[in-house]
Amino acid sequence: LKSKYLDESSERKRLSNEVIELKGNIRVFCRCRPLNENETASGSTSVVNFESSHDNELQVICSDSSKKQFKFDYVFKPEDNQEVVFDVTKPIVTSVLDGYNVCIFAYGQTGTGKTFTMEGTPEHRGVNYRTLDELFRISEERQGVMKYELLVSMLEVYNEKIRDLLADNSTHPSKKLEIKQSADGTQEVPGLVEARVYGTEEVWEILKSGNRARSVGSTSANELSSRSHCLLRVTVMGENLINGQKTKCHLWLVDLAGSERVGRIEVEGERLKESQFINKSLSALGDVISALASKSAHIPYRNSKLTHILQSSLGGDCKTLMFVQISPSATDLGETLCSLNFATRVRGIESGPARKQT
Ligand code: ADP
Repeated sequence: LKSKYLDESSERKRLSNEVIELKGNIRVFCRCRPLNENETASGSTSVVNFESSHDNELQVICSDSSKKQFKFDYVFKPEDNQEVVFDVTKPIVTSVLDGYNVCIFAYGQTGTGKTFTMEGTPEHRGVNYRTLDELFRISEERQGVMKYELLVSMLEVYNEKIRDLLADNSTHPSKKLEIKQSADGTQEVPGLVEARVYGTEEVWEILKSGNRARSVGSTSANELSSRSHCLLRVTVMGENLINGQKTKCHLWLVDLAGSERVGRIEVEGERLKESQFINKSLSALGDVISALASKSAHIPYRNSKLTHILQSSLGGDCKTLMFVQISPSATDLGETLCSLNFATRVRGIESGPARKQT
């Protein structure tokens, strides 16, 4: 068992380093949701085309009938289910067990499936649940060679304020959380609840209770959730039983606030403040990832709470994955192009006019 583990572990490390060397450690996957019932009923057709022979390209038909081609590390088709999405994502998330810090983000306009991808529904569970399930499965498989402890925390960033979603907010409604640098130079949020977890069903219950806490104090749970970032942190404490080496790594699974620009009429009061905070933090995130992708000397982590919290898990040999979520509907064309352009900029790859179809 020991030698099997060592062989497997060094092979995984070798392959992972090879991939990082070839492609860097920042990935962008694009996921387009299917047309929904209302869109179908009103006769909408999809403005997003997928090429069956390429799993990394898509084409958007613009309002003047011109076509714009985009290329990412992977492009899911609307019919790709949660299992297919997780299969492609699995090697990245499970690398936390091999000692990597990992950040996964879902970016896009409200209603494009960010929560569906990350959280999912009871019938179609998303990346968060499937990841934990896989981490438990691998931990069990490595029993006797590696010992792992898994802890989960859940927090929300709303208007640049951090809220602990697992704390008893009824007794500490105004408990303010701040980011501090710990002795080893990593960013920590002192006082953040960390729940030790032993099985996937327990995690599902914790996620449910965290989500309930998200809506406290807001008139509409959906509205608030689209205007705040929700971060699930999985801490993996690993101990190699062969050489005694101990590791502590974080996997962050982030459902970002909606990226849509708000209409001019709506922009006043609270809504104006919220949208300014969202714009600021999403562009700060874009700036950090593109600075990392271009290997810039200065990475502007401190420009938002979101990037500051994630500082120790973004960059270096940490792995980053962004899901850019889009809608196929013509009515969302403007936002779709904005999201695809953002993701293109983040990844440091060029988009261009459509390739000739053969
Ligand atoms: P967001 O979090 O971006 O606001 P949601 O995850 O709430 O969007 O998705 C909006 C609606 O679309 C939900 O009813 C969700 O179940 C549905 N949906 C999103 N993506 C898909 C998909 N790939 N397949 C089927 N339904 C989806």
